[in-house]
Amino acid sequence: MAEADIALIGLAVMGQNLILNMNDHGFVVCAFNRTVSKVDDFLANEAKGTKVIGAHSLEEMVSKLKKPRRIILLVKAGNAVDDFINKLVPLLETGDIIIDGGNSEYRDTTRRCKELQEKGILFVGSGVSGGEEGARYGPSLMPGGAKEAWPHIKTIFQSIAAKVGSGEPCCDWVGDEGAGHFVKMVHNGIEYGDMQLICEAYHLMKDVVGMEHDEMSKVFQEWNKTELDSFLIEITANILKFKDGDGKYLLPKIKDSAGQKGTGKWTAISALEYGVPVTLIGEAVFARCLSSLKDERVQASKLLDGPKMTQFSGNKKAFLEDIRKALYASKIISYAQGFMLLRQAAKEFGWTLNYGGIALMWRGGCIIRSVFLGKIKDAFDRNPELQNLLLDDFFKTAVENCQDSWRRVISTGVQIGIPMPCFTTALSFYDGYRHEILPANLIQAQRDYFGAHTYELLSKPGVFIHTNWTGHG
Ligand code: NAP
Repeated sequence: MAEADIALIGLAVMGQNLILNMNDHGFVVCAFNRTVSKVDDFLANEAKGTKVIGAHSLEEMVSKLKKPRRIILLVKAGNAVDDFINKLVPLLETGDIIIDGGNSEYRDTTRRCKELQEKGILFVGSGVSGGEEGARYGPSLMPGGAKEAWPHIKTIFQSIAAKVGSGEPCCDWVGDEGAGHFVKMVHNGIEYGDMQLICEAYHLMKDVVGMEHDEMSKVFQEWNKTELDSFLIEITANILKFKDGDGKYLLPKIKDSAGQKGTGKWTAISALEYGVPVTLIGEAVFARCLSSLKDERVQASKLLDGPKMTQFSGNKKAFLEDIRKALYASKIISYAQGFMLLRQAAKEFGWTLNYGGIALMWRGGCIIRSVFLGKIKDAFDRNPELQNLLLDDFFKTAVENCQDSWRRVISTGVQIGIPMPCFTTALSFYDGYRHEILPANLIQAQRDYFGAHTYELLSKPGVFIHTNWTGHG
């Protein structure tokens, strides 16, 4: 009997939690998993006492679904998604909907959209953010793909998504093809940037200001009441004060070698591919790469000298406020760069993206959730055509108010020898972006000199000329 509103395939942590979330909101979900025994385990344990039903084959699962059938895949990204799609298609009818909620690469989503469109199946690639907790109690959802599917999934998606403000869901239609997964990818890249910026602030507090963990925790707690109010600042305050079983702080015992699963790297690669200077996310990825060269760094630390100056002699309280402002200004640059990438992707692929809507989707439910994203939404509400966040009055003024502090922090950090790849790249971007004239005229001349690549004169736009720089031949 067709009784289920939706099916979900993939009973690992994300899938289980999303099912329970949908169940809480009154939807009947049919659960399925490649290893079928996990269906019975789930029904007997986590889903006990709920309205969740299960299936032991894809045929049985499909037969239990109301039409148009809605099926969410929450399986490992890559071949597992294609395998399930191939098995499902013969069992489905025109107008049925397959949703991939995993961390798929946006180009795979675009390909799947096209392949399934030819077969009459509506394919949706949806970013799901917020980890296990988000999936269970309200994730940020970023669906894109076949728009005809949206009216059929909107109620479910917006019911289970995180809510902000006066109950606005952190979920809206993103755009065609792989747009949802692209936006999720950029979200993850921004997450890398936010995390690295916080690490740089922590490094300065610890090694320049010479603060203890408890003290740093309190500062982050205070910062969480300012413009920096966000999930990542909040958890940083908690992490800093966390003590191990032996009563000592846990953080300094953790190996300083950062892992990564690849979505930050994908964002940086896309930025290079589409020629957008998303320098901060790039530096955040490279900072993780450098951190992972632990053995090499241990050796180098014994051989390579730093600056003579190792002590900070200024006013520590004032410097802490400078660090806060440097973090805020750098964060604004990171988001400005992220939205530049979204704009360029929209242009490349012909997507119509709602930038304010994207900021709202990230405002709650996900790892980068923050009050700040509400300000970004406001900026795009004021001007949906806004070319760059930095040109919005609110952000322009915010950066201006921070810039003296930002420059002080960077010069002090540089003199003492603290690596601050994201603080510094953000400031370089800001200085580059606000310069009418950059030294790229010399690059053009050099290119023309050695490769006859031609250059354009400021006085004659559109006319490309070559000069015989050596006077030979
Ligand atoms: P996962 O470990 O990424 O995947 C496990 C699930 O995939 C299981 O149901 C497994 O089935 C199935 N699977 C793996 N290989 C398969 C194959 N070759 N064929 C068919 N099924 C296969 O689970 P997860 O952490 O819950 O994540 C699910 C998806 O959400 C992933 O794409 C992940 O990147 C994304 N995501 C995860 C998080 C998070 O915080 N964990 C956050 C956002 C998005 P068996 O039980 O049979 O092995």
